[in-house]
Amino acid sequence: MGATREEVVKVICQDYGNDRSRLLDIARDVREQLGCVDSPAVDCIAEVLSIPRVEIESLVSFYSFLYSEPQGQVQIRICNDVPDMMKGADRIASELEEELGIQVGETTPDGKFSLEYASCIGLSDQAPSALVNDLMVPRLGAGTARRGVQILKERGELKELDKLLIRDYGDGNNAHDLVRSACSNHIRKAGEVILAEMRRGAGLEKALAMSPVEVIREIKTSRLRGRGGAGFPTGMKWEFTRAADGDRRYLVCNADEGEPGTFKDRVILTERPDLLFEGMTIGGYAIGAEDGLVYLRAEYAYLREFLEHALAKRRELGLLGENVCGKEGFHFDIRIQMGAGAYICGEETALISSCEGLRGDPKNRPPFPAQHGYLGKPTSVNNVETLCCVARILQRGSGWFSAIGSPGSTGTKLLSISGDCMRPGVYEVPFGIRLSEVFAMCDAQDPMAAQVGGPSGKMVGEADFDRTICFDDLATGGSLMVFGCDRDVLEIASQFMQFFVHESCGYCTPCRVGNVLLKERLDKILGGHGQPTDLEYLQRLGESIKMASRCGLGQTSPNPVLSTLESFRSAYEERIRDADDVEESGFDLQSALSTAQTLTGRKSVHFED
Ligand code: SF4
Repeated sequence: MGATREEVVKVICQDYGNDRSRLLDIARDVREQLGCVDSPAVDCIAEVLSIPRVEIESLVSFYSFLYSEPQGQVQIRICNDVPDMMKGADRIASELEEELGIQVGETTPDGKFSLEYASCIGLSDQAPSALVNDLMVPRLGAGTARRGVQILKERGELKELDKLLIRDYGDGNNAHDLVRSACSNHIRKAGEVILAEMRRGAGLEKALAMSPVEVIREIKTSRLRGRGGAGFPTGMKWEFTRAADGDRRYLVCNADEGEPGTFKDRVILTERPDLLFEGMTIGGYAIGAEDGLVYLRAEYAYLREFLEHALAKRRELGLLGENVCGKEGFHFDIRIQMGAGAYICGEETALISSCEGLRGDPKNRPPFPAQHGYLGKPTSVNNVETLCCVARILQRGSGWFSAIGSPGSTGTKLLSISGDCMRPGVYEVPFGIRLSEVFAMCDAQDPMAAQVGGPSGKMVGEADFDRTICFDDLATGGSLMVFGCDRDVLEIASQFMQFFVHESCGYCTPCRVGNVLLKERLDKILGGHGQPTDLEYLQRLGESIKMASRCGLGQTSPNPVLSTLESFRSAYEERIRDADDVEESGFDLQSALSTAQTLTGRKSVHFED
């Protein structure tokens, strides 16, 4: 007789020391072993951890990889980001709906298959793609998705999906025994910082020959800035964290690469895990931390075993653990914290909440994580690419690093290029490269526009093609989507807005409501019912959402509309000129936002429709 639900839950909780702060792991494991975190499971967890059940329900409802209702044994998530839609993701969805006899969002009556959409799964360079349980299935051609489902239907046993669905593994470590993935790295251009070969311990040994303060000074001299997009100086962040009061400090690596169109961290994690772990160890030494966490997005769960193996190897070699590299008194280790599907967790305070076993709600700042971060302790949150740069800077020196790139943006940048180009993939380029040079490298086809920095970034047109990729001009965390002449920029902006509507955590009204209103008005124009006053409305509403929102998501979510209004105003004007219907929406925007303005204490902005 199998274990009862109560017994399963108890064992899972015990595995995590009945620790409330590991609730996300507990919920993930319960979902994996019992199929979902249903009401009786919630009761069991609440009892074992002695916490109110509402905390568990609220967590489960927040993350898209947790479910309170049973799901199919095989869960198919079709990626519906813009590059995937451009390559036919909706056709794949229709094909599967027909084959399975269900709609997206449903489960087959026999409980075998569930079908849903997923925001970017990190394969925009090999679209259209899907995630089948933990298995990445890239490059879905006409009929291949249907054939895959037919194969699964023919088998009674739905285990070892990779053997059933994957014919060839990808290049490099994608073919590693612990990865076994059909993903390709698509490394089109390897630079000397991130994608060059490395020797384990090369940077760490040099770091440990210095004092922690000297390591921070070396990073400051290199003028390294965070690669997540905001570009905060890494050395300064570490200085603040080291100086903050606390009996424990943490270094957290943000591997939640969720910005649509970004996939370069997937490639780093596949091909340079040691460079990352080395950078984390150096960071731990510099700030005085003994614990490092890698927050790995749920979509990259297929890399977990491989990464655990790389960590085990480093422990074996003395590069992690007690007295790292023989350095008396320096103890440091790393654990992998799995995410559960929430774009907002890429925001550092939301990521910390998630690591603490909470909903991924952003926290108010100040206090900043450097003072009050993970479990209330001083914490430095750094991007995957940033930490790789750290290892290389210590290995080759700050002078070498700062000679690459541009004065305000030293080093190289990994770009994830997708869309209308012949050579999508990962490019390591020096900062300061012109957009036109990037187009030439990736063989862009009649580029009309590029989305730089993902949906939260900027849509630029031909007038900007001579601008440069760097923090002081076109900043990007890595995503660069190319759009050819036959694309509709308003349609693309609408899809990006749909993404933000879906991903808003809902905490504050300007973001929760404002983005819906913005999308509705944009769609009104798209639908041929726009009026000249709609443009002013979009501009003012977008600016207000940015101003009144609490975190980075809301502060950037109107960018698809605002940047297309700036770069492609004529596309809006043409739509409005051709409009066949001038019906007013009748919506009172001022009234809709008044609550938010009162709550946030922001000044009232008058919208004239
Ligand atoms: Fe949540 Fe949006 Fe507010 Fe950020 S801005 S806290 S995502 S509702």
